Amino acid sequence: MRFSILASGSAGNATLIETARTAVLIDAGLSARALAQRMTDVGFNPARLAAIAITHEHADHVGGLSALARRLDVPVFIASATRRQLRLKDKDAAAIRWADPLVAEQPTVIGDLTLTPIAAPHDAAEPFVFTATAAGVKLAVVTDLGYIPAHLAARLSGCHALVLEANHDRDMLRAGAYPWELKQRIASRSGHLSNDEMARFLREDFDGLAAHIVLAHLSQQNNHPELARLAALQALRARHPQRDWTSIVTVAPATGLGQWRAL
Ligand SMILES: [Zn+2]
Ligand SMILES: [Zn+2]
Repeated sequence: MRFSILASGSAGNATLIETARTAVLIDAGLSARALAQRMTDVGFNPARLAAIAITHEHADHVGGLSALARRLDVPVFIASATRRQLRLKDKDAAAIRWADPLVAEQPTVIGDLTLTPIAAPHDAAEPFVFTATAAGVKLAVVTDLGYIPAHLAARLSGCHALVLEANHDRDMLRAGAYPWELKQRIASRSGHLSNDEMARFLREDFDGLAAHIVLAHLSQQNNHPELARLAALQALRARHPQRDWTSIVTVAPATGLGQWRAL
């Protein structure tokens, strides 16, 4: 299995996962044209995409979904409540191949890849994070959630790679220019993961297995890549001091990793 983050953050999110036989795009938060271009940029032919899976209906995750799904004629895996929130025109919805609706904790097999949606605390209709497994290798994409509840932490054990939200530094958010309501929303239990909560997970719940930890969905205004990375490294070194985490923890730029991570 390998994966490439094509975009990460409030301007758009998309993660491409490829196994020996199957390629799945998790979220489609850029325009269809930009997504196809980014796939091509990492050496992937968009025509080989097998499916698109959606975490939740926020625009930075579904902005290009309708056009991309129709253009590539691939099935869309999405929760019923999330699909309703898309509010697509009838004509567009009818032109999309909808897979059976995703249900939390029920694994879905797509080719040689198994995708499991897990309920996430976020202010959307039926938000998920995903684990993807193939040939004994496991990846999790964990963004857009206010905190990491115990049921989710348990599902994240055994991961060989983690894409983990590090949205904001609490002090930067508090002192920043966002309106009060937006600050409250981001910082809430159904908002976005702070560096502190990300680090708490790594220190208290993480099993230390992953060979790649990619910090994702960073706020341009309320975080710095080095601040997020330092928080992760400090937590990991406190819990697993015998391992050198320096090359394991990276930060996904808003414009994507620009490369594949192989597992
Ligand atoms: Zn988002
Ligand atoms: Zn969201």
